[in-house]
Amino acid sequence: MLSLLSLFVLFIISSYVVFHEKKINKIQYFLKKIGNILSYKTKKVPLSVNFHFTRKCNYECGFCFHTAKTSYLAPIEDSKYALKKLADAGMKKINFAGGEPFLYPKYLEELMRYCKLVLKVESVSIVSNGSKIKYDFLKRNKDYLDILAISCDSFDESVNKKIGRGTGKHVEKLSDISHWCREFGIKFKLNTVVNAYNKSEDMNENISKIAPFRWKCFQVLILENENGGGEGALRDAREFIVTDQEFEEFIQRHSEQKCIVPEPNNLMKNSYLILDEYLRFLNCTNNDKTPSESLLDVPVEKALMQAGWDQEAFIGRSGIYDWSKQPSNTCGNNQAKELEW
Ligand code: SF4
Repeated sequence: MLSLLSLFVLFIISSYVVFHEKKINKIQYFLKKIGNILSYKTKKVPLSVNFHFTRKCNYECGFCFHTAKTSYLAPIEDSKYALKKLADAGMKKINFAGGEPFLYPKYLEELMRYCKLVLKVESVSIVSNGSKIKYDFLKRNKDYLDILAISCDSFDESVNKKIGRGTGKHVEKLSDISHWCREFGIKFKLNTVVNAYNKSEDMNENISKIAPFRWKCFQVLILENENGGGEGALRDAREFIVTDQEFEEFIQRHSEQKCIVPEPNNLMKNSYLILDEYLRFLNCTNNDKTPSESLLDVPVEKALMQAGWDQEAFIGRSGIYDWSKQPSNTCGNNQAKELEW
């Protein structure tokens, strides 16, 4: 009788566990994240790194704040060495950026695979202007890429041209890439720089159609030696500046987009960990980009001390988010079902 009762209890418990397995996994996932956040409060960990491995670009955006000051590309073994050090120090997410990273597709591909297969980095992402992305590249690398972010500042090509983003085919390419990402299970993200030329645009309809899982809206940022117009700067972005209020009006106009993530100037400057083409962190605290010592020469902890990186600000701007390939909400209610990744 007793063993029958035990079997019955066991049956009830296992059914409950199986039935709620998904929920339990989710709870465990979030508890792990909370645990991580608490430990990051006490120690600096390079959790999420933006590796700008090239400064070269085929576009000429007037407000660009990471300009082609050098054409250096580190030997791939040096890049791998630095990435390994970062992974050993706790890096969980790597974002490849530029310049335009797709100017070097083989290099990019090798680093993506190295990060996923060898270093087991949780999330690999790329930020690109989209113009050089090929269908076959995404098909071949779909298992090594979690998130693809494309920059788009306007759905009006004449505005894109004024900004310097391409020659009139930017939106068409953006739409193709969003479909390819859907086909290959890669999360599609959109980045927009709010500036003097697009500040009054209403993008709601197009954003709902394209349905990114995350839509970052940055307030155009001036960094003295990059786009400040002075000596040593390759750009003068002062004509692109928007006030805090104009930026806020743009955000309010698009508040129905649940995936919108606003980033005003005060949030942007110190909350990104930027690794440059020489494997140095760039310290942006003084409206400039001062390089740390290279990860080729010093331990991660020492380079981090020189990075001017504000870990609290990183967490404060929701730097830790659902960056794996697991399903998440998207913009555009109509598309949400269709976009179950
Ligand atoms: S696409 Fe990006 S890197 Fe290239 S010029 Fe424009 S802002 Fe700069």
